[in-house]
Amino acid sequence: QFAFSDSLNRLPQQFFAQLVQKVNKLTDEGHDVINLGQGNPDLSTPNYIVEELKVAAENPDHHKYSPFRGQPFLKQAIADFYKQTYDVDIDPASEVAVLFGAKTGLVEISQCLLNPGDLALLPDPGYPDYLSGIALANARTSMMPLKKENNFLPDYLAIPDDIKNQAKLMFLNYPNNPTSAMASQTFFDDTVKMAKKHRLCVVHDFAYGAIGYDGKKPQSFLQSAGAKDIGVEMYTLSKTYNMAGWRVGFAVGNASVIESLNLIQDHLYVSLFGAIQQAAQKALLSDQRDVTHLVETYERRRNALINSLHAIGWRVEPPQGTFFAWLPVPEGYTSETFAKCLLQEAHVAVAPGNGFGEAGEGYIRVGLLASEKRLEEAAKRIGKLNLFR
Ligand code: PLP
Repeated sequence: QFAFSDSLNRLPQQFFAQLVQKVNKLTDEGHDVINLGQGNPDLSTPNYIVEELKVAAENPDHHKYSPFRGQPFLKQAIADFYKQTYDVDIDPASEVAVLFGAKTGLVEISQCLLNPGDLALLPDPGYPDYLSGIALANARTSMMPLKKENNFLPDYLAIPDDIKNQAKLMFLNYPNNPTSAMASQTFFDDTVKMAKKHRLCVVHDFAYGAIGYDGKKPQSFLQSAGAKDIGVEMYTLSKTYNMAGWRVGFAVGNASVIESLNLIQDHLYVSLFGAIQQAAQKALLSDQRDVTHLVETYERRRNALINSLHAIGWRVEPPQGTFFAWLPVPEGYTSETFAKCLLQEAHVAVAPGNGFGEAGEGYIRVGLLASEKRLEEAAKRIGKLNLFR
């Protein structure tokens, strides 16, 4: 009856919505599905954060509109957190935008910087929401393949100068969803140089900024000299503190880009519920002991999964960061046929790699989002399919 807008029609289907539907159907039929598909942390928010929310919710001041652009106490806590965790100086007044989860910023940034027809550089495979923002802005994309032989980093030398000159915006994400790769300081230094030369704005998605294994702490993009001249970093409390449902994130970095995000947020959200901002402040200013514990938990899960996959004859490499394993599918399968096989035959739900872009074909993404025992059970079920011996 209604002719919906071209922008809406350009939006791709939410890829995980379909996966969730299939899992629910099998569960409703009485099957015990081990769901390692969607990136939804299974652990709960640390108690001290929940308690702070309860106390804060009693404060009637928080029942009113929160100040536009976030509570100053939260922005100060964000700056303190960045200094403490990454030794990066952030001006809370001009270099912080409080977001409803990193997702809003990652989608809105395309509205801030891209006119219809403008070009953005995107990692392939990559988190699907970068594309959603670009589709809404009616902009164009050029994909940067992340290849195993290059440690899943984009190869800037392989991108023609003409494309780099045309592009206005580039998305990066390390620790990387879905490949689990980490980036070095040198890579970020090269990124700053390249972006300056080609006048690109860099958006670094740092959603997994707390989760690195084998003692390797993820690098902030803003640790590179000059990074604030050319870009912003998006962070979220969703993964670091198991607060995905709370919808708290933020962007830090270049003041003019932050101003553009804030302007959009003014028109859409005013700001987050004040009590949530107070609890988020508590999390960011905590001693981070729970975060260390969280990373140790994922690392134990990672080891359990990888060891039990090796035990069934599937030789895969361990993830370096995030809570995902990026596993090449066996011969004779595509990402989709293999994911389907695992769901139907083993009742193990995983995400097919091609859902993250063309270069994700040939892989599946497995979340470390169940107990060690369940992950071992998943590997055992896969082993019974006799695909690896
Ligand atoms: N960026 C990446 C790479 C993610 O994996 C996710 C969540 O899955 C997000 C951003 C979204 O985070 P938020 O919950 O803050 O919107």
